[in-house]
Amino acid sequence: MVGFGFDVHRLEPGRPLILGGVDIPSPHGTVAHSDGDVVFHALVDALLGALALGDIGEHFPDTDPRWKGAASNQFVEHAVQLVRSSDCRIVNVDCTLVLESPKILPYKQQMRENIAQLCGLPMERVAVKATTSERMGYVGRKEGVHAFVICEVQSV
Ligand code: MG
Repeated sequence: MVGFGFDVHRLEPGRPLILGGVDIPSPHGTVAHSDGDVVFHALVDALLGALALGDIGEHFPDTDPRWKGAASNQFVEHAVQLVRSSDCRIVNVDCTLVLESPKILPYKQQMRENIAQLCGLPMERVAVKATTSERMGYVGRKEGVHAFVICEVQSV
């Protein structure tokens, strides 16, 4: 099965920027109920999507005070657990981040390691790519950040 996930969060000055579990030095960061990690949120939706198990908002409503400021790795752990309890395993994960700044290159390896560890995958099965929006639109104006994730899940 293939799963796809997308997430977007608003960026504002003086907020933390946490992407793929990495705290990235930046003048702006995400505005969110949780830690606003768009990579992990899109990953959760991709994993849930592969098994048609709903979406992140159903599993972790942003009206629930339990998830206020929550580290998003626990959302990923929950989704990975659901994959396992469905007698499936994750084959690979492929992420694309879209943001104007800062440059993500120095942090990509750490993001891959974090995702690999959470998903129980070797690094070679986890891709993290990043691109800009060529200064166009709200991502280009540094008002937001996008993440897209696709994954393959297989019955065991
Ligand atoms: Mg989100």
